[in-house]
Amino acid sequence: MAYRVTLIPGDGIGPEVTEATKRVLEAIGVVFQWDLAYAGADVLDKYGTPLPEDVLESIRKNRIALKGPVTTPVGSGFRSVNVALRKELDLYACVRPCKTYSGVFSLYKDVDIVIVRENTEDLYAGIEFERGTPEAAKLIELIVETKRGTVRDDSGFSLKMISETGSRRIVKFAFEYALAYGRKKVTAISKANILKFSDGLFLAVAREVAQEYPGIEFEDRLVDNMTMQLVKRPEQFDIVVAPNLYGDILSDLCAGLVGGLGVAPGANVGDEIAVFEPTHGSAPKYTGQNKVNPMAMMLSGVMMLRYLGETGAADRLERAIAEVIAEGKNVTYDMKLDDTQAVGTSQVADAVIQKLKGSK
Ligand code: NAD
Repeated sequence: MAYRVTLIPGDGIGPEVTEATKRVLEAIGVVFQWDLAYAGADVLDKYGTPLPEDVLESIRKNRIALKGPVTTPVGSGFRSVNVALRKELDLYACVRPCKTYSGVFSLYKDVDIVIVRENTEDLYAGIEFERGTPEAAKLIELIVETKRGTVRDDSGFSLKMISETGSRRIVKFAFEYALAYGRKKVTAISKANILKFSDGLFLAVAREVAQEYPGIEFEDRLVDNMTMQLVKRPEQFDIVVAPNLYGDILSDLCAGLVGGLGVAPGANVGDEIAVFEPTHGSAPKYTGQNKVNPMAMMLSGVMMLRYLGETGAADRLERAIAEVIAEGKNVTYDMKLDDTQAVGTSQVADAVIQKLKGSK
């Protein structure tokens, strides 16, 4: 039976890395029926929106999507397609595995961390009050009235909100992920010593949820200490669960530990729906040059195969990618010290497909 998957090529380098990924997924032998759906800057003129309703409809119907990156123009009216997708489909968990593959230029070996980032609340909920507005003045009044402290009149505000509901479901997700993928430890991140009512709540809930999973080790770290520990001894971490902002920062840090954005896959997951996409963006300056690394998107495809229960196919594809990296011949510029010897996006796909053929 074919898996019906919504395929969103995105814009910028999106279509190139999507095509490369589609080719390797089809070469494995798992049958996909792709529902092509177009979102991003390229469809804005035609549909008047970068996220046409039929894209959402297709994902809701198929419950699974593979997505290339989409540009969010700075300063233009349209909101981020990525944020809108996460909100509309309640994709509350952002999952970003960061693993060292032999042959990647990195200071570290044996890193195998999965960052589970809360995707819907915290400072990213977008509730803000601009400096000098009547609403900001009202907020200042409330703060003074309730004796919370003093605030300068020319302050702007971005609210940090963390709920018990949001915290419980993301921490549970992290533990369930640990069970499903044979992981041993969950580390919860906060700044609970300072932010008692938001991060403090997150940590209290994390500790409570941890009690329901006695077979999995639990620990917590303050976010500042965590950044230092990750740089010093990343191999001590397994699954890391964090509120939105810390999760965002830590996932880029961890991508850096394992060789950069070219090999950093990801998924945005809800209770019913999952959208798989690389961590990197649309890198507009490289559009159409057959230059960028498709491996982050291919590894997102590996995650999708595992999610579908196609473990054997996922293992084979991951192994094929790892072998191409280890050989170091058919890799893109970002994986070379010497830029001149790099191959292009589609040649990486050719090399992975060759490896897959050899592994049959
Ligand atoms: P970016 O990830 O697109 O690019 C930053 C740099 O990283 C590039 O210039 C390039 O040097 C390198 N890079 C990225 N992907 C690579 C790849 N596959 N292979 C090799 N090198 C790669 O980040 P940015 O420049 O901050 O963002 C560009 C656009 O992408 C923005 O509009 C941003 O909003 C959007 N974005 C989208 C997503 C998404 O769709 N999920 C995620 C992040 C950024």
